[in-house]
Amino acid sequence: MKEHSIALSTPADADEVFDLLLNPSRFSCADIESVEPSEEGDRYALRFRGGLARWTQRTEADRAARVLRFEQVSGDFVDFGGSWEVTPDGAGSRVVHRVSFRTSVPHLAGAVDPMIARVLLRAAAGVVDGLAGPAVIVEGTLHDEIAVPSQQDPPVEKAHDRTASPGPTLAAAYAAPSPGAPLEPATITRRPLRPTDVAIAIHYCGICHSDVHQVHGDWGGGTFPMVPGHEITGIVTAIGADVTRHAVGDRVGVGVIIGSCRDCAECEEGLEQYCSHSVEVYAAVDPHDGEPTRGGYSTHIVADEHFVLRIPDALPLDQAAPLLCAGITTYSPLKHWAAGPGKKVAVLGLGGLGHLAVKIANAMGAEVTVLSRSSRKEADGLNLGADHFHATDDPATFERLAGTFDLIVCTVACRLDVDTYLSLLANGGTMVYLGITEEPLDVSVFSLLRSRTSLAGSRIGGMDETQEMLDFCAEHGIRAEIEVIDAAQVNEAFDRVRHGDVRYRFVIDAKTI
Ligand SMILES: [Zn+2]
Ligand SMILES: [Zn+2]
Repeated sequence: MKEHSIALSTPADADEVFDLLLNPSRFSCADIESVEPSEEGDRYALRFRGGLARWTQRTEADRAARVLRFEQVSGDFVDFGGSWEVTPDGAGSRVVHRVSFRTSVPHLAGAVDPMIARVLLRAAAGVVDGLAGPAVIVEGTLHDEIAVPSQQDPPVEKAHDRTASPGPTLAAAYAAPSPGAPLEPATITRRPLRPTDVAIAIHYCGICHSDVHQVHGDWGGGTFPMVPGHEITGIVTAIGADVTRHAVGDRVGVGVIIGSCRDCAECEEGLEQYCSHSVEVYAAVDPHDGEPTRGGYSTHIVADEHFVLRIPDALPLDQAAPLLCAGITTYSPLKHWAAGPGKKVAVLGLGGLGHLAVKIANAMGAEVTVLSRSSRKEADGLNLGADHFHATDDPATFERLAGTFDLIVCTVACRLDVDTYLSLLANGGTMVYLGITEEPLDVSVFSLLRSRTSLAGSRIGGMDETQEMLDFCAEHGIRAEIEVIDAAQVNEAFDRVRHGDVRYRFVIDAKTI
């Protein structure tokens, strides 16, 4: 293991410094969350990488030599140990701190280890400065942009659990290096926290059909390497100075958009998704720094608090993830076109979007019919809450159901005979597109004016509405049906999404990234 070290000089007497170092419960600096003695050893929680590293260490003291040796007995590192050594130096003393460690992500060691070492050494310097400072670095350096904390600095605002992020942080991710290329492990940076930013340790990210299209370059405009993922759930690890909506430890989610102008008529109305300056969580550019945005197939993300949702306790983080895109994409049009008691709603296609449309429309009180290509998923459809199920490969379906529905939500991403489906609408009914088909639609105006029907589209939902949807799902016990996968299976999962072979959403376990 590589050893990292730093030497500091302090004006305090060597024996005095050694005694102070024997009492870690007094260790305090911006990087240290807590140190607590226990039977097993001293329990450390250190802030870094937008999260906390925890370990318990045993320390052995050699008073004659003024040397302390410590070693992890359990914790987040595979191996961790080091020493403090104090020697008299003129009227004061010289303190050398040495540390070496190994993490469980060897393929990231080159990128991540220097950052971990920097935080460990900075914490050590902060401890000495706090106990016996001012401390001056006489050997070794910390990162350029980081000054040794001095006693003159204002105290860290621990009461609100705010943690300052000194610079960009690293995150592990899965990225597509070029359009159509398989996804592979990558290391990316997340921006330093702006005042209204929230740092999130990602626990789960759903795989949306859009991810497959974006990575394939079907819609153009994305920047590669591309980190997809817009169905993100996790836990808040740090917040910026002005954040009021979220606190460290909160269960949160991030969906398709992470920015908008916040000033136009749409933004004022809570329709941020229709703001002409809305910013997507990936395959877009952050207007503040010009950097490409990177999505949720990653261990960490930073986002403005306005675009971070609360996940109610009743929703498990894995089954909540798909709600952030598939859930709101179906909830918003169902609400807008007033699905509810007395309304007949058809859900066209029973996939990631469709299965949630069935559950939500059913919970809203509508009479729900699934229209699926074959009767293969009939039992599933009825179990999910549909009242009726019809196969569209049976021509009799269209005769039987003519003029029936108040609303058809179209969740399939393929070319359809739109006129045939419009014939299923009741007078004044609406057919709304949620899935994207790249080819233009063929539609006859006669089909529209015959029964004053509408053909519409709908895109995700605004932030208030997305929160309302999450609360609604928690209240009605609605969760996505998911298959949790390891990140290494993502390319296989993409193939299966392409072939419609998933019931009903893949969710990546971010621990495996
Ligand atoms: Zn999506
Ligand atoms: Zn706007």
